[in-house]
Amino acid sequence: MVKAIVGANWGDEGKGKITDMFAEKSDVVVRFQGGANAGHTIICDYGKFALHLLPSGVFYPHITNVIGNGVALDVPRFMAELQHLRDGGVPAPHILISERTQLLMPYHVLQDQYEEERLGGHAFGSTKSGIAPFYSDKYAKNGIQVCELFEEKRLMERLEQICAVKNVLFEHLYHKPKLNVKELFDQLMDYREQIAPFVSNTLVFVKDALREGKEVLLEAQLGAMKDPDFGIYPFTTSSHTLAGFGCMGVGVAPSDIKQVIAVTKAYSSAVGAGDFVSELFGDEAEELRHRGGDAGEYGATTGRPRRVGWFDTVATRYGCMVQGATEVALTAIDVLGYLDEIKVCTGYEIDGKIVTDFPVTPLLDRAKPVYTTLPGWKCDIRGETDYHKLPKQAQDYVDFLEEQIKTPISLVSTGPKRHEISRRR
Ligand code: GDP
Repeated sequence: MVKAIVGANWGDEGKGKITDMFAEKSDVVVRFQGGANAGHTIICDYGKFALHLLPSGVFYPHITNVIGNGVALDVPRFMAELQHLRDGGVPAPHILISERTQLLMPYHVLQDQYEEERLGGHAFGSTKSGIAPFYSDKYAKNGIQVCELFEEKRLMERLEQICAVKNVLFEHLYHKPKLNVKELFDQLMDYREQIAPFVSNTLVFVKDALREGKEVLLEAQLGAMKDPDFGIYPFTTSSHTLAGFGCMGVGVAPSDIKQVIAVTKAYSSAVGAGDFVSELFGDEAEELRHRGGDAGEYGATTGRPRRVGWFDTVATRYGCMVQGATEVALTAIDVLGYLDEIKVCTGYEIDGKIVTDFPVTPLLDRAKPVYTTLPGWKCDIRGETDYHKLPKQAQDYVDFLEEQIKTPISLVSTGPKRHEISRRR
């Protein structure tokens, strides 16, 4: 059967740790969307690792890790990550790359940089990893699939067609150097040599695994708010971050997905631009960001400081709904132990009305948070594995959130390490 681990918010919810935990009991772990533009932090027996493209099952020898067709495959970043594991003493993982996965090309990275430069103050806060140009090209049918690397004549022809268009853009819009087709082709031949051992028909592999009764885990990047359709468009990413896209991004059937675990932090955090109604500023924000140290004051990929705020039940209830969450893993509750009182955003005030259904972006722009204040627990609960030993105020806080987000909270994570987690139900 298939389980999916997804984000209920803006990303950085702590999916890495939860995926790592579920991965242990899985046979196949799949990345089905996104690229190297975000990352998971995993603290395991080998140490602390930031994964960007590699599925989180790479620390277990019994797992096959699949890079699905929905991913933007950045070959140099992929190889660098494998090296990062080797340097950390991790045994060579078992990895398969779908022959239908498309390649993130060097010109996608350039285009992303040029476009952010051109937009200046109106930029979207892209990580400049080439993700938006990659997915635009994919859907404009200008992408290159991994399988095409093995068809040289066809590849050369396609590169010529693609570069003819790109060069108009590069020369006349961005005033940058033109692309050289031959150089690109040679680079792709180099990529081919590097990834050839991993290329496979992953669709058949995953279908066979399911037929044999194996456990397949889908691992999403970012969160519901970054989905291009249901998120805070245009401050979203360019691939779908929802569990449902797992079907497209690797080829499992909707009916195969039996469990959707949405991950959300006990407070809010976000990296990048876009509306964030319950955001904190000044000293309060600095303190929370600082306390959240392990919970990542910096983005795992960009090193940018995270924006932080109070838990947002409007956004999270919506996030759980669009994900189709069957349960929730609440992370980083340990971070809140210093607070006398904890605010929770339970509504948005828009044009004088209180709204509890997550609105569209233009309305979100004018939304002001409405808070409910709960008592803090004022003690260190880091590492607690017995949920019932958590202070009453902490349990009340979790009960309140659960009631608000209308999805059962089954796991409560009390620290970044593997074992620092408690099962609530
Ligand atoms: P992802 O984008 O959702 O995969 O986010 P990450 O996996 O990068 O998680 C964000 C940060 O939260 C990382 O630094 C994790 O080590 C940290 N983290 C995860 N769970 C907990 C927790 O329960 N408590 C604390 N303090 N940190 C956590």
